[in-house]
Amino acid sequence: MEIKYDFLPELVIPISYGSSEVIETGKWGFEKPESVFMTAPCQEVCPAGNPIPQFLYLASERRYEEALEAVLQENPFPGVCGRVCFHPCEKECHRVQYDEAVSINAMERYVFDVTSDRSPDMPSVSDADSKRVAIVGSGPAGLSAAYFLGRLGYRVTLFEARKELGGVMRWGIPEYRLPKSILKKEIRRILQLPIDVKTGVRVGKEISFEKLHRFDAVFLSPGAGLSLSLGIEGQDLKKVWSGGDFLDRINSGDKFRIGKEIIVIGGGNTAMDVARSALRLGSRVTVVYRRTRAEMPAIQDEIHEAEQEGVRFEFLLQPVKVSVLKNKRIRVKFQRMKLRGRDESHRPKAIPIKGAYHTLDADGLIKAVGEGVDLSWIPKTLNKKSLIDVNLSLATSHPKIFAGGDAIDQPRTIVTAIGAGKKAAISIDLYLRGSAEDDVFSKIRVGNKGALSMEAYLSGKNGGNWSEPKEVISYPQLNTLYFERSQRVEMSKLRGNKTLKSFSEVNLGFTSDEATISALRCFSCGTCNYCYNCYFFCPEGVVSLDPQHKKRTVDLEHCKGCGTCAKVCPRNGILMKGPS
Ligand SMILES: Cc1cc2nc3c(=O)[nH]c(=O)nc-3n(C[C@H](O)[C@H](O)[C@H](O)COP(=O)(O)OP(=O)(O)OC[C@H]3O[C@@H](n4cnc5c(N)ncnc54)[C@H](O)[C@@H]3O)c2cc1C
Ligand code: SF4
Ligand code: SF4
Repeated sequence: MEIKYDFLPELVIPISYGSSEVIETGKWGFEKPESVFMTAPCQEVCPAGNPIPQFLYLASERRYEEALEAVLQENPFPGVCGRVCFHPCEKECHRVQYDEAVSINAMERYVFDVTSDRSPDMPSVSDADSKRVAIVGSGPAGLSAAYFLGRLGYRVTLFEARKELGGVMRWGIPEYRLPKSILKKEIRRILQLPIDVKTGVRVGKEISFEKLHRFDAVFLSPGAGLSLSLGIEGQDLKKVWSGGDFLDRINSGDKFRIGKEIIVIGGGNTAMDVARSALRLGSRVTVVYRRTRAEMPAIQDEIHEAEQEGVRFEFLLQPVKVSVLKNKRIRVKFQRMKLRGRDESHRPKAIPIKGAYHTLDADGLIKAVGEGVDLSWIPKTLNKKSLIDVNLSLATSHPKIFAGGDAIDQPRTIVTAIGAGKKAAISIDLYLRGSAEDDVFSKIRVGNKGALSMEAYLSGKNGGNWSEPKEVISYPQLNTLYFERSQRVEMSKLRGNKTLKSFSEVNLGFTSDEATISALRCFSCGTCNYCYNCYFFCPEGVVSLDPQHKKRTVDLEHCKGCGTCAKVCPRNGILMKGPS
């Protein structure tokens, strides 16, 4: 009898003695292979729910436009995140247990950089009858909410107090980390959607809060823009700056000198940006923090970069007084501290060492000890503990007002703000459609850490059919036998004198080869990446794969249920299932 295969590969593949035509499933085997898709751990911890294995797979095939589209489904800021995200994804990458983490962050940047001049069109589905949503604040939370609401078909009006959009991305983070041209490209893409932008309009000043009630729903994302004070004698002296004001001037393009010797107080992102910017203005800089390096809240990479560039650090010191010396320099008196016990946020508590002081002289001091939320224009009923008070759906106590970003109780990072913008857009959509859908968030979750999938939301909303959330794949579920050990590729950096003489971007990104090597290092945990193992090892030759259309099919009529495909899949993508 002649056996016909219409999917024979050119390579020789093993065929069992018995004919597939003769022995069919059910006559011989009880189990059938079923494709399973699981959530990768990197994706679970990305607060934006970036489809990491998918975009890395597409990038490994150099299908960059498709990779960008995959990311844009969940995150409107790949160019920003690829530069300044604190990348928790890399810490959880399964490759860490094998050799070194995949360079996810740098790859996100590469996918944006290589396609940024041919960004996909943003289809608009809104019409004249669309409901209207007001957004206050155009940082990552507000712009993300505008993006997702625009894509969901709403007419959005975005109020921004400053003359340009972007929030901290525009006025806080300096050019050497996030070039303005990158932010502009991201914002230009978002503004293809039906978003009416009102810059230079501070709600509570140019228009009243009450006027927002004309909209069908409101999202508040004003960030945390108030520099907290040191609360010490001399804090209002001319030579004492606020970190926010200092960075604002830098980011407005002001060229100025701040003094030869500068002290920066604080241990967070603002302190690191202030210190590195002051270095670029020609100052010698000492960062003083009241705990130790281990407790500094700034992104680790930033601390490291600051050290590399020559910023000096002094720990366990708290300023108590600033005074002006005869030579017009300033003297800062510090209380020496020690760590003992834990505070309410479970961080080691810094307590004064009685009678132990230290002084430092300098030409100026920049305080960067944290930021507060300006709630003066927001009704008191919406606030709690100096923040806007929201529930798990980001709804305030007013049914049509939602809030997110730095102004609520959530980690203060860009990607968390993006995640909040997405969540708020979904909550607002549910509210405006009067949806009685219970527990939507548990159906569209990406793992168990709070990230949501817009793709899952749209397919459930449009098809009315919510798929089951995918479980997170553990390391032992991978079959690492098929992987080779390899070194992680790091981005090259601007080095030497050039770095500190300008505000040019320090991280230089990947070359095309570095990007391909990095993308290929991804295990594609829990996702089929068409490695063809199942295809080659199937003794019956009944597996067919179609990478272009993302399809893997098994001819179940002739599958014997031997389970070879499941065993050889390196990423746990096939499960043998018996008759139910
Ligand atoms: C200096 C600095 C560096 C940072 N670096 C990083 C980093 O590298 N990586 C990272 O992940 N995170 C970083 N962060 C944190 C991150 O930037 C914030 O968590 C994030 O920007 C918060 O987004 P948001 O949209 O809530 O607020 P914001 O970005 O603060 O935006 C709020 C916007 O609302 C506007 N606004 C306020 N009140 C009104 C009003 N009444 N009417 C109209 N508009 C109003 C403001 O002008 C502003 O544009 C940094 C923060 C700072 C300060
Ligand atoms: S946004 Fe941040 S956490 Fe998410 S994939 Fe990018 S680098 Fe990782
Ligand atoms: S190997 Fe790839 S899919 Fe797996 S955790 Fe790392 S980046 Fe994510």
